[in-house]
Amino acid sequence: MKKTINLKRLADDPSCLSDYDPNAMDFAKVHEFLDKFLTPISASEKIPIQNSLGRVIAKDVKSTINVPNYDNSAMDGYAIAFNNTGLTFKVTGAIYAGSIKRKSIRPGEAIQIMTGGRIPKGCDAVVPIELLREHESYITINSLPKKYANIRNIGEDVKKGEIILTKGHFIRPAEIGLLASLGLSSVNVLKKLKVIFFSSGDEVIPVGSKIKVGQIYDSNRYSIQAMLERLNIDFTNYKNVLDDKVIIKKTLLKAAKSADLIITSGGVSVGKADYMKEVLSEIGQVLFWKLSIKPGRPLAYGKIMKAHYFGLPGNPVSSMVTFYQIVQPAIKKIMGQTNYQLPPYFHAKCIEPIKKRPGRLEFQRGVLIKKNNEWIVQPTANQGSGILSSMTQANCFIVLDKNDSNIEKNTIVNIQIFDGII
Ligand code: AMP
Ligand code: MG
Repeated sequence: MKKTINLKRLADDPSCLSDYDPNAMDFAKVHEFLDKFLTPISASEKIPIQNSLGRVIAKDVKSTINVPNYDNSAMDGYAIAFNNTGLTFKVTGAIYAGSIKRKSIRPGEAIQIMTGGRIPKGCDAVVPIELLREHESYITINSLPKKYANIRNIGEDVKKGEIILTKGHFIRPAEIGLLASLGLSSVNVLKKLKVIFFSSGDEVIPVGSKIKVGQIYDSNRYSIQAMLERLNIDFTNYKNVLDDKVIIKKTLLKAAKSADLIITSGGVSVGKADYMKEVLSEIGQVLFWKLSIKPGRPLAYGKIMKAHYFGLPGNPVSSMVTFYQIVQPAIKKIMGQTNYQLPPYFHAKCIEPIKKRPGRLEFQRGVLIKKNNEWIVQPTANQGSGILSSMTQANCFIVLDKNDSNIEKNTIVNIQIFDGII
């Protein structure tokens, strides 16, 4: 792909790229394109470390101290100073964790020491309490330990001056602990992403209202909000918008003024009331893709002013699958996370045959369980793109390759575990 192709040119003239076919977009191609067009946010803020879970480091973090900042004992036991091959040591006192003044011992001497206690001058090794015998004023051991055994060295976790977290690193509990171990009370993180989302459709009604035949409750807006909540971003819910060009346009323009990312559900297909395409081509640069994945065929990506835009399909399973498989990795990129990887596939034995035609990559919903020491997976009963209950029954996606045809019973298939994704 040539570097000079921009989104506007591609949106205006899809044929400007020889390998670009919006009517049969490969899953891998989508990620490739998005990688090219998504730009991470750069604004940052300084926040207390205890509020930084799920955020992204904005500036390399350099340690100003050694961790630990003194040689200390890894065990409760005795610090000993070797005296040739002697196995008896005279006890001279005790060192507790937190006692700051450094003590010392001479050859043939031992000093009781607690885990974390400061290693005394002259000490060759620490012998754990379990491996020695205590007498009134001396201890005996059976054999000499290796030199420096059970001593934790100054700077062995983090060295003074070392960069321990780089820009783009996603903050998990361990990162917060590590920042605390350096004595840092605050951290520079990238600003939270601002996402505005809404659903669309004349038939879509809010929960809590009385449903008429021909209507459907707005489930997408709730699942989308919940999926966003997991990603630690700022979101605003613009509710449901009717299939009306003027209202859709107004809503999108309003959203584009303040959002980093706009997400909509419905109206991106080829139905008579699917107006997203028309409206978006007037106010932004948008690509409409027929993805070669199932479920989730139609998907739109583009930009409206400075805001990124994703138009998810209206079918509830399709909108969730496209969110997890495409929008979530995109959000990670816009959030500025650089150590993100697409969720891995694992293998499991599929205990039922699956009907499949070659041509599309499929994300079937499956139930993974361990039986007789083996991980086996069973597809949920109904795989329709409107069967939202399949997502609640499942705990994994069964990922069937684009070229796969029918899967026989007991075939080893690729699965993607929901935990860590959803
Ligand atoms: P669309 O993509 O707008 O053509 O919608 C495809 C299907 O998804 C239709 O059957 C819609 O009724 C349904 N649908 C659209 N939006 C929602 C929503 N927010 N919640 C639940 N179902 C929806
Ligand atoms: Mg619709």
